[in-house]
Amino acid sequence: MCRRRCAECRRTFTPAASAVATQRVCSAACRAARDRAQARGRRVRDLDGARLDERERQGACRKRLAAADCHAPASEAKEPRSREEVRRFVDLVLARSRATLQRDLLWICRRYAQFPGKGPSPVTLEPRLASGTDDE
Ligand SMILES: [Zn+2]
Repeated sequence: MCRRRCAECRRTFTPAASAVATQRVCSAACRAARDRAQARGRRVRDLDGARLDERERQGACRKRLAAADCHAPASEAKEPRSREEVRRFVDLVLARSRATLQRDLLWICRRYAQFPGKGPSPVTLEPRLASGTDDE
């Protein structure tokens, strides 16, 4: 009888007779944990490909939901940018001319800058909040 050590929990187990040569884990729980770990590894090795797959999968899901007409589809999320996307934006900006960079940075400062102790910048392009306005 063949005994083997589980790749996940490290306990010894007896592999199934049909999988003596290939079985690496002792139980369904360890199989699920190993599958998740391997999926994490695949995602890390091909992050851009994984993100592309997720975008396509999510887009197809949203189309199915919109076509099914039983639930309103989720609104378009304003997702935060990942570090990789920010790095790509920086590369794009650095490839531009100095004048273009200055113009874009000024626009960003006017749009997003907040000065300490003064709240939102007075030149922000964001609409005012409904509450707290006194010009009604
Ligand atoms: Zn195990």
